[in-house]
Amino acid sequence: MRAHAFDIVVIGAGIAGATAAAHLASEKRVALVEAEDAPGYHTTGRSTALWILNYGPADVRAMTALSRRFFETPPPGFWETPLMSRRPVVTLATAAQEAGFRKLLAEGRGMRELSSAETKERIPALRPGYAVAAAIEDDTFEIDVAALLQGFLRQLRASGGVLALRSRAGRIDRQGGGWHVEVSGGNVFTAPVVVNAAGAWGDEVASLAGVAPLGLQPKRRTALIIDPAPWKVADWPAMSDAVTSWYAKPEARSKLLVSPAEETDMTPHDAAPEDIDVAIAIDRMQQALDIEVRRVEHSWAGLRSFTPDRSLAIGWDPKVEGFFWSVGQGGYGIQTSPAQGRLVAALINEGELAEELSFAALVDPARFSRSPEKSTQAQNAERG
Ligand SMILES: Cc1cc2nc3c(=O)[nH]c(=O)nc-3n(C[C@H](O)[C@H](O)[C@H](O)COP(=O)(O)OP(=O)(O)OC[C@H]3O[C@@H](n4cnc5c(N)ncnc54)[C@H](O)[C@@H]3O)c2cc1C
Repeated sequence: MRAHAFDIVVIGAGIAGATAAAHLASEKRVALVEAEDAPGYHTTGRSTALWILNYGPADVRAMTALSRRFFETPPPGFWETPLMSRRPVVTLATAAQEAGFRKLLAEGRGMRELSSAETKERIPALRPGYAVAAAIEDDTFEIDVAALLQGFLRQLRASGGVLALRSRAGRIDRQGGGWHVEVSGGNVFTAPVVVNAAGAWGDEVASLAGVAPLGLQPKRRTALIIDPAPWKVADWPAMSDAVTSWYAKPEARSKLLVSPAEETDMTPHDAAPEDIDVAIAIDRMQQALDIEVRRVEHSWAGLRSFTPDRSLAIGWDPKVEGFFWSVGQGGYGIQTSPAQGRLVAALINEGELAEELSFAALVDPARFSRSPEKSTQAQNAERG
């Protein structure tokens, strides 16, 4: 058994752990430990990779907006290719969804109603009669998730940080004012601070450290790829109905990604798609679009993990010293990741919080150990 001393051990090399480690490494000695053979193997490698401002509760919207500049202009040397590419999003309202759609449109920033002719022009396969109304968000984009993740890991290494793969944290003990994190393979990482960025396993990692869980709920979501030929979809927008019971997005220029947008409660594991969800996705998409599905080229599922009020949980555990949470990234962990990293570093380095990080109170994990008036946020979170 070999012991390695650091200032901070970050557990989990998905996007949450990678951005935290990258942002911390300029001032601290950081080890990022990951159970799997590769970073991003779980939820981070399975996302739809969209950046949508009008998505999720207030904390998510603040972090999404704050992250924008990073995607547009990453730090020098971050990655060789652009992190973002433009992809408008169109919301289609069926007759039954029209009232809710009007509310979305009134509240959404930068959403514009489309005429039926404009909608048909943008989505030529749209079936007549499916949508009674539609709106477009132009200021949305796709994120190159692989580049983003590798860019954060490059920043970590450039600052002298370490990424330890095949290193599942199995014992996490507090000894003499510091943490001992014993990982598979026998190494021990010691540090005064542990950052729990274990995604769906966030509550399990907390329990290993003797920290009370937050009540994280992993929820499965499925996606699949079809060939929509003869339609040429490269320039189509991403699209969903107004209650997000399905969505679709052009993928790899000639393919279409389709999702039934389900949220099935799961325990943490390596998620796989169920045939029934694949069938539901195709059925709902085909109610809207005149696209023949000859075969499903590829399908997968990932776990989107939510806190009880669907806002993120980023901050110190209120009871156990040196234990920091960055979990509950839900369906928005990629688009908020630059802001997450900044907040983690600001809170851990104990500097003043810049005004643009004033949403920190909304994501403070301590809210779950206070008395039960977290319901306002829960109500606000319905779009998440
Ligand atoms: C189908 C789908 C579509 C999505 N679309 C979008 C989107 O368009 N935009 C967006 O912003 N987000 C989207 N998301 C959500 C986004 O992917 C997640 O919010 C984000 O990836 C969560 O990152 P994470 O680092 O918290 O979790 P993960 O990527 O799962 O990382 C957690 C890591 O912790 C490791 N780990 C766990 N336990 C231990 C341990 N004991 N020791 C060491 N390591 C451990 C795991 O192996 C894992 O690698 C989508 C998700 C899905 C499934």
